[in-house]
Amino acid sequence: MPYVLDATALRAGLSLQEKGRFYTTPGVIAEIRKGPVARSLELAVEISLTVTEPGDDAKAKILETARKTGDDGRLSQTDLEILALAWELNATIVSDDYSVQNVAAVLGMKTESQTEGIRKIINWTYRCRGCGKYYEEKQPDCPICGSEVRSVPRKG
Ligand SMILES: [Zn+2]
Repeated sequence: MPYVLDATALRAGLSLQEKGRFYTTPGVIAEIRKGPVARSLELAVEISLTVTEPGDDAKAKILETARKTGDDGRLSQTDLEILALAWELNATIVSDDYSVQNVAAVLGMKTESQTEGIRKIINWTYRCRGCGKYYEEKQPDCPICGSEVRSVPRKG
């Protein structure tokens, strides 16, 4: 199942199972670079995020639909692009944006909100930055070496 992730989904520091295929647009990456960067981009690399642009036909289709539903004024260029990309890839969109979800619903596309649906594809584990040991539960510090323990995508 391919997923198209918006900036909110990436910023939330999601970790995703490897069985999914994950996509986003250059616009989303540009948006993320304006904010607290490191965590999101680090994760983007870890989950093998594919960054790609939707074609003009798909963008035109989304724009036409958004005009019909009246969502065009509320959708950013980035929103339009992730919708178009998901349309092209027949992917599930991960976004909390109401207008994105609305346009997607009208087109019969699947969406998952980050706060609800995406929990299904989150798969966290925790790893010590010092000694590298993995933990199932979040730890304030590593019980072995005392280093910071961070959430990371589970492998395999
Ligand atoms: Zn440790």
